[in-house]
Amino acid sequence: MLDFLKGRKRAANADNRRNKAPRGKAAVTFAARLTVDDVSRIYDRTVALDRVSLDVAPGEILCLLGPSGCGKTTLLRIAAGVERPSSGRVLLDGQEVAGPERFVPPEKRGVGLMFQDFALFPHLTLLDNIAYGLRSLTRSEAKVEAHAALERVGLARYAGDYPHILSGGEQQRVALARAIAPRPSVLLMDEPFSGLDARLRESMREETLAILHETRATSIVVTHDAEEAMRMGDRVALMHKGRVVQTGKALDLYRAPKDILTARTFSDLNEVPARIEKGEAVTPLGRFRANGLADGAQAIVCVRQRGVRLLKAGEGTPGRVLDARFLGDVALVELAVQGLDAPLFAKVRESDVPPQGTEIGVAADSGAVLVFPADNGAAPASQ
Ligand code: ADP
Repeated sequence: MLDFLKGRKRAANADNRRNKAPRGKAAVTFAARLTVDDVSRIYDRTVALDRVSLDVAPGEILCLLGPSGCGKTTLLRIAAGVERPSSGRVLLDGQEVAGPERFVPPEKRGVGLMFQDFALFPHLTLLDNIAYGLRSLTRSEAKVEAHAALERVGLARYAGDYPHILSGGEQQRVALARAIAPRPSVLLMDEPFSGLDARLRESMREETLAILHETRATSIVVTHDAEEAMRMGDRVALMHKGRVVQTGKALDLYRAPKDILTARTFSDLNEVPARIEKGEAVTPLGRFRANGLADGAQAIVCVRQRGVRLLKAGEGTPGRVLDARFLGDVALVELAVQGLDAPLFAKVRESDVPPQGTEIGVAADSGAVLVFPADNGAAPASQ
C-alpha cells in the first residue's frame, strides 16, 4: 500500500479513538458585536447582496442559511474584509470597518475565516499550518499557541506530521484549530461540514459547537442545510436572492414563517390551492383561518406533513392510500384525496400505516396549517 494511503487508513481508524482522547480547553477570545448595515454588493449585473442588514451579538452563533447562489459567501467575505461592499457599512463593536468612511484590511479586524475546503498548506506540518496565522507572535510563542489549539482538537501528537496523512475529519479539525488559534473576536465559517460524510458531519458539528461555546467568539456559520442551521444557530438568518428574508430563533422561523419560502425551508409541506371566503381559506380538506387575506383572494394552504391525520372511512375528506415509504421512525404515506389534483403526503408512525388501497378519511390539524397568498411569485414546491 502507498505510504499516503497507509497514513490515511491509520488516521481513519484512529478517528474514533482520538475522538475520545482528552482535550485541552480552547482559549477564550473577546467577542465583538458584528453589524452589517444595509450592505449591497453588485458584480457587473449580478446583485449578490441586496441591502442586507444583520446584527450579531457578542458571543452569539448566527447561522446564515440559504440555497446556493443566494449571497452567503459574499456576505462572509465582506464581513472578513476580503471583499468590499458596493454600498452600506460593516461595524465591529460599533466601529466602521467597511463603508464610505473607512476600510480596515482583513488582518487588522480580528476576524477569522474558515473555508469549506480546509485549505491547509501541504508542505507545512500541522503545527506550522497553525503557527502560520500567528505571525504577530514570536516564533516560540506561536508554537505554544498552535500546540494548544491542536491539543484542543485532539491532534497534538500529530503536530509534526503533514496534512496528507490525515482523514477528512482530521483535516477539518486542523482547519478549526487554525481558525481559533489567533483568538478571533469574530469567527466566520463557510459551509464548514459540507466536505464530510453524514456520520462525521454530525460529530464535527457537535465538536465545533462545543469549541465555539468555549472560545465565546461571535460566529457566523454558513449552511444550506436547515437542520444544521437549527441545530447550531442561536439564531438563523434565512437568505434568498441576495436578501435576508427572515431572522430569528429557529423555532420562531418554523412556527411563524413570514412567507412560503421560509415555511418550505423549515418544514415538509403539502401545498393546497384555496380561495378566501368570509375570512377563511376554503379547501377540500376544510376551512382554515385566512391569516388576514381579503375575501376573494387566491391562497395556498400549507399543511405540514406531520399535520395530516388519517381517519376512518366516512370521517373527514374521503381519501385512499396510494403508497407508503418507510423513513426510519416514521413513514411517509401518499394519499389520493377527493377534490385535490395532487397527492397529499402524511408523516405518521410506521405502525399506523394502513395497507395500500385502503379507503380512509383525511383531515388537517389546524395547528399544522399555514396560509399564504398565492400571488407572491413563489412557484409551488414539488413533492
Ligand atoms: P452562496 O454563497 O450563497 O452560494 P455567493 O455569495 O457565492 O452565494 O454568490 C452570490 C451571487 O453572486 C451568485 O450569483 C454568484 O454567481 C455571484 N458572484 C459571487 N462572486 C462573484 C464574483 N467574484 N464575480 C461575479 N459574480 C459573483
